[in-house]
Amino acid sequence: MTSTETTSSAPAGTGPALAAAAEALRTHIRDIPDFPQPGVVFKDITPLLATPPAFAVVVDALAGAAADAGATVVAGIEARGFLLAAPVAHRVGAGIVPIRKQGKLPGRTVAESYALEYGTATLEIHDDAVGPGDRVLIVDDVLATGGTAAAAANLLRHCGADVLGLAVLMELTFLGGRSRLSSLDITALLEI
Ligand code: AMP
Repeated sequence: MTSTETTSSAPAGTGPALAAAAEALRTHIRDIPDFPQPGVVFKDITPLLATPPAFAVVVDALAGAAADAGATVVAGIEARGFLLAAPVAHRVGAGIVPIRKQGKLPGRTVAESYALEYGTATLEIHDDAVGPGDRVLIVDDVLATGGTAAAAANLLRHCGADVLGLAVLMELTFLGGRSRLSSLDITALLEI
């Protein structure tokens, strides 16, 4: 979780028509100041999820990224990433793999801990969820400092998968997360 600002710029990594549609998504994303802790502006996507045309734009765009990359697996990061990854995987005929917070997966897992702004977090994946030959796109709602996506990529690679890239609804560009993910092709529908 990361402190954010509310300034914005044009979206990148999309075609002109999609960029215009993505711009319209901003009206469905709500800033919640000081959540979950003072100083953090939480980007709440629940209004967008509850608006079918807006959600359709998101799924279409992320599915386009998955199709372009030739993904055979879409990995969703708990929890909002699941809401986006599932329809994207279904749309492109890919499998979906959950990357979860510690202690949630029932089978044998591999884990990766990483630094948050305050403290640390741990993500896990079933150790047989992906393997050599799998071409994986990671999907999440927000790219902030990049620690979460980097940990997810490490877990997938540890299992032998080919990690193609990261597709997110929005990127908080002022936090510089992209620079930590130089090995990944990044699609962000909105830049904040
Ligand atoms: P990071 O590891 O810093 O890139 O943080 C990305 C993860 O934390 C994503 O799974 C997001 O859901 C969540 N996150 C970070 N900052 C925010 C924010 N300002 N609003 C909503 N979610 C956030």
